Amino acid sequence: MFNENSPIQQIFHPDLADTGTELWIKRDDLIHEEVSGNKWRKLKHYVEKAKGRDGIVTFGGAYSNHIAATAATGRLLGIETIGIIRGDELCPSSNHTLSKANSDGMRLLFVTREEYGFRDQLAYHKQIKQEYGNVVVVPEGGAGYEGIVGATEIIRGHDDFDVVVVSCGTGTTLTGILISLKSHQHVIGFSALKGGDIKEEVCRMIGEYFLDKSIEGDYLDAFSIFDEYHFGGYAKVDSILIDFMRSFYQHTNIKLDPVYTGKMMFGLFDQLKNNNKYSGKKILAVHTGGVQGIKGIEEKLGTHIF
Ligand SMILES: *Cc1c(COP(=O)(O)O)cnc(C)c1O
Repeated sequence: MFNENSPIQQIFHPDLADTGTELWIKRDDLIHEEVSGNKWRKLKHYVEKAKGRDGIVTFGGAYSNHIAATAATGRLLGIETIGIIRGDELCPSSNHTLSKANSDGMRLLFVTREEYGFRDQLAYHKQIKQEYGNVVVVPEGGAGYEGIVGATEIIRGHDDFDVVVVSCGTGTTLTGILISLKSHQHVIGFSALKGGDIKEEVCRMIGEYFLDKSIEGDYLDAFSIFDEYHFGGYAKVDSILIDFMRSFYQHTNIKLDPVYTGKMMFGLFDQLKNNNKYSGKKILAVHTGGVQGIKGIEEKLGTHIF
């Protein structure tokens, strides 16, 4: 049902003609029509844990791809899902993401920002389990150990690439890729958020994953983060970004999403055009999915992107 062996394909675009690079894309957007690619990767091992239990409880904001992915996965695999949503002013019909999650059978609980702030606390998880039974509590965005493990599977078998490129929210996906790299490879993350220190977060996750804080430093040379391509912040867009996504679609027939992969690809093109250190390199950009988010942004813009 989930096509984890998603294909890779080469990208041909006039903007790249003089860069001396070879760009390929890993089509994790094709893992499933409804379940965003990296969200499935991160959910997969939590779903295994949920077998024989009472369901999955997780957390997210109003436009969360993770909430959408969890709800759809629950419907497809017959797992009860509960979504704790940030903002008690919201309701199931507030936007496309929430109404789809609701119709997928997710029970949506709208909580104050204050209560949402407890989402990583064990005492809060205990309370959730008292109320909803023997559920698996999945961190926001599918982060955590199981999420990282799932992300280690993304570039498996693609040792011939020099550089891997991925969009970052929590940095969980990048951390999984980083752990799975061969010694000659490097991973670049493009942050979809304004502010926040993804580098520090990745180091923290590496330490937690190996249960050894002293190991963090070993990975510092193997990854870099660009944080100046956020276009004003999470889920903010402008006409430059939309024009770029349209041009990319025209030349490749691939839809990027405006929240994550559109900004990543814009930033990557900018770097490849202006930074000759990538010349001669074979690059693999990960299409992490997120295409469900297009509708929400189109609703906000009042126009179609594609
Ligand atoms: C959530 C998401 C990301 C960010 O993943 P993290 O593991 O949180 O860094 C990237 N791309 C898409 C399409 C996403 O939905």
